[in-house]
Amino acid sequence: MSERPSGPAASTPPDGPPAGAGSDQAARALLTAERAAVVTRLAAAEDDVRRIIGAGQDVATDDEHDPEGIGLALERAHAVAALERARDQLARLQDAQDRLARGDYGRCSGCGRRIPAERLQALPTATTCTACSPVRRPAARRGR
Ligand SMILES: [Zn+2]
Repeated sequence: MSERPSGPAASTPPDGPPAGAGSDQAARALLTAERAAVVTRLAAAEDDVRRIIGAGQDVATDDEHDPEGIGLALERAHAVAALERARDQLARLQDAQDRLARGDYGRCSGCGRRIPAERLQALPTATTCTACSPVRRPAARRGR
């Protein structure tokens, strides 16, 4: 996987100095892969929103309460939510990559201990260990 996502929103940070720890390498690969997936999702969500808003303009000229319009509004709400989730996730990934570059990655911001590797694998953007996590989200909530 050497392809970089090239989009207007993708500000590619320069690669940090090679860290000695092998886990940093793994984390970097994981974050890079995750980021590529999120960038793709973000672009798709932006397309969806644009398409739906474009379609909505046709409907907006219609004064009747058109069921088409309601469906479209719902669809737009979903698309906007997906877009916001993708942006949010991208920001968290950027933050994780920044922390990795600083050497702070994988350290709990609550207690300062190392975050268990399996937690970072499941949630690469985690900033706290499980004990310090303010929200214990069920694993099923991940993804779309
Ligand atoms: Zn902690």
